[in-house]
Amino acid sequence: MPPPRTRGTALRQRLAELRGPDVPAKALDARALAALAANPGCRRRAILDGAGVNKASLASALGSPSAFGQSQFALTRGNAFEKRVKADGGAELLRLVHEKLDRGAEPPSDAQVPELTAIGPEGRTARTALALREATAAGAWTLLDHPMLSLDVAGSPAFLEPDAVVVHPDGSWTVVEIKSFPMLDGSADPAKVGAAARQAAVYVLALEGVAAHLIPPSRVRHHVLLVCPKDFSNLPTASAVDVRKQRAVTARQLARLTRVQDIADGLPEGTCFSPDLPADELTAAVESVPATYAPECLSACELAFHCRDRSRTEGAVTSLGRSVRAELGGLTTVDDVLAAAHGQAGDPEDPAVAALRRAAALRAEVLRAEQGAACR
Ligand code: SF4
Repeated sequence: MPPPRTRGTALRQRLAELRGPDVPAKALDARALAALAANPGCRRRAILDGAGVNKASLASALGSPSAFGQSQFALTRGNAFEKRVKADGGAELLRLVHEKLDRGAEPPSDAQVPELTAIGPEGRTARTALALREATAAGAWTLLDHPMLSLDVAGSPAFLEPDAVVVHPDGSWTVVEIKSFPMLDGSADPAKVGAAARQAAVYVLALEGVAAHLIPPSRVRHHVLLVCPKDFSNLPTASAVDVRKQRAVTARQLARLTRVQDIADGLPEGTCFSPDLPADELTAAVESVPATYAPECLSACELAFHCRDRSRTEGAVTSLGRSVRAELGGLTTVDDVLAAAHGQAGDPEDPAVAALRRAAALRAEVLRAEQGAACR
């Protein structure tokens, strides 16, 4: 077996081939990782994300463009708010961290804001790890603005960039998420807070990887700071969000992802996902990787319209939802389900088949009764 470094280089080459010649890799962000972890059985998404394929461009090239992404207006507004929150060396941001998470510590003044620029994501990750180590040893309030973290995802590194990480005087670390949705009277839309918490949980996991390498290991706080505009103003307000549950779920789901290397090894020679390829060639490449479509994909993956069409064409029961799929056991297509319900296929001892036959018999009885009533 080749040494790990050689294996890593070979995998990177293979992933670059899958992406296509001269197609730059799209970095995985925490939002994408949280969505990937929500559907750990989908090998298609795992290999596309692992290879850094731009799924939005791929979906357009396949003729099923995604309805994803923030509007330019929302992006501009979000960036302006983040700039305001971090103004003056992050004074307001650090005040909020102190107020919401660490009132016992001395108030932050003259906090350090280390320079984190370096070449490439690997360089920035190393620079961030060094800054964290130095700040922890110094025992002073420190703000890391857009640090770079790395997380192993299905055997290959994903680079992540939280809005900020704060080092407390006791050496513990807090993830900060800055969002542009409003916090009204101290609370925000629970769905948006939930999505932000899942994203922050991914950063917490990545940060724990850095913390574990320090001697002694540092502590990553499991309460993150969510900063939003207060009411309808652009003044920042914040709340501490407990992400222990999201962290545990994401860690479990990421551990279940099939290794990217294994999926890549199973693909036909010459497979390529470049959006420049003709649509039929691209469709064949995408279809060569199994997918597990579920309606939840519509809010989490750029390829959802393509996969939904395929799933419907194949009559797959997954398009009806995960709970229906789970109830149907080994019956994977609508045709199988109908045949089982009408007694043309299936083991009558199978609880799913028995339930379908009972339901079909009841339906037939109701229809007969209705027809009888109509004739009278
Ligand atoms: S939309 Fe397709 S590729 Fe994306 S997660 Fe769902 S099944 Fe997988």
